[in-house]
Amino acid sequence: MKTTGKCPKCGSTEIVADAKAIDHGHGNHQGDMMLATFRKPEALLFKGSRKTTLSAWMCMDCGFVELYADSPENLKLPGSA
Ligand SMILES: [Zn+2]
Repeated sequence: MKTTGKCPKCGSTEIVADAKAIDHGHGNHQGDMMLATFRKPEALLFKGSRKTTLSAWMCMDCGFVELYADSPENLKLPGSA
């Protein structure tokens, strides 16, 4: 959808690109919705969470939403190709 500009569900090309997924949690504070992975606690290196913000592609016709991580490399584990 991000690369084709076409909805995979209904075939529409009315796509809203790069909409920000807003997290309305934590009271009224607005922030970009985040995706995070959490390392095993026993791992000494790179301990803690790895995060990326998300961007959404939405179909104007059927409402289908596809989410993309802005920085997928942030969640890549060391040693994994
Ligand atoms: Zn659609």
